[in-house]
Amino acid sequence: MAYSQPSLLPDALGILKQAGVRIIAGGTDFYPALKAGQHPENLLDVTRIDGFSDITQSEGGTRIGAAVTWSDVVRTDLPRAFDALKQAAREVGSLQIQNAGTVVGNICNASPAADGVPPLLALNAEVELASAAKGKRVLPLEAFIRGVRQTALMDDELVTAIIVPKPHAGMTSGFEKLGSRRYLVISIAMTAANVLLDAKGRIAEARIAVGSCSAVAQRLTALEAGLIGQDPADVGISPIDVAALTPIDDVRGTSSYRLDAVRHQIQRAIHKAVS
Ligand SMILES: Cc1cc2nc3c(=O)[nH]c(=O)nc-3n(C[C@H](O)[C@H](O)[C@H](O)COP(=O)(O)OP(=O)(O)OC[C@H]3O[C@@H](n4cnc5c(N)ncnc54)[C@H](O)[C@@H]3O)c2cc1C
Repeated sequence: MAYSQPSLLPDALGILKQAGVRIIAGGTDFYPALKAGQHPENLLDVTRIDGFSDITQSEGGTRIGAAVTWSDVVRTDLPRAFDALKQAAREVGSLQIQNAGTVVGNICNASPAADGVPPLLALNAEVELASAAKGKRVLPLEAFIRGVRQTALMDDELVTAIIVPKPHAGMTSGFEKLGSRRYLVISIAMTAANVLLDAKGRIAEARIAVGSCSAVAQRLTALEAGLIGQDPADVGISPIDVAALTPIDDVRGTSSYRLDAVRHQIQRAIHKAVS
């Protein structure tokens, strides 16, 4: 078995030119998904690559490197628009998982229940990818996650960072997660709400993203448009507002339970954002 832990991106991209290389960061999704007795032959660990553990903020926005863990997100001073991401970070598994698991690993795993995806969608996040052959490219997160466990990542590519365009200074956000118990639980439904209020306290912009209620977490754009001009205290969410969601029945909850719960969850996430 080969295990590489390069410190330079070109070296990592060189390793990825070989066939059958598997990428790991924290390994908290990767290792539990291996079947008994199965062992990967060629692992590329990206956690030591220069700059990958950094969260950097500039006029252009915020760059979350591919080795940034959930605990790093919690510890970093970020604009209030990132509060939903921070709240999600505190609810990913346990402290041990938050110390090892990365934000990028969460989106690359492309689980419908990945808690990081709704807050990042509500931040208009983009994904930066790199390969030796094609250099760098950037995709909106919506285009990166293509389905259950499916992403736009090519065999010779890795994700270098998540890029969040600079949010409006007044934008605030909130995250709500519903599970069958309080901690260490896979989401039945989760919602991130990013809200900007006008001078009269009415909603000037709303970004609402819901996960675990469709194959890929999604923004509810019709609802977002309908919220403009409303007083956040008076917001009510109707079944039509969540009609774009297509939740499944599974061991964690039925489709109708999810649709009902998510309406209340959206309302709570908006209140949390503006409180
Ligand atoms: C006990 C437990 C509880 C958990 N609870 C939650 C929870 O509450 N909410 C939640 O959302 N998740 C949860 N998870 C899942 C997991 O911890 C998170 O999704 C975590 O963010 C994954 O990050 P990682 O660095 O460990 O990813 P890894 O396991 O290292 O990688 C995950 C996938 O991403 C790929 N990958 C990683 N980095 C890159 C890169 N730079 N470029 C390309 N591909 C890459 C890997 O090849 C792999 O396919 C839990 C896991 C466990 C074991």
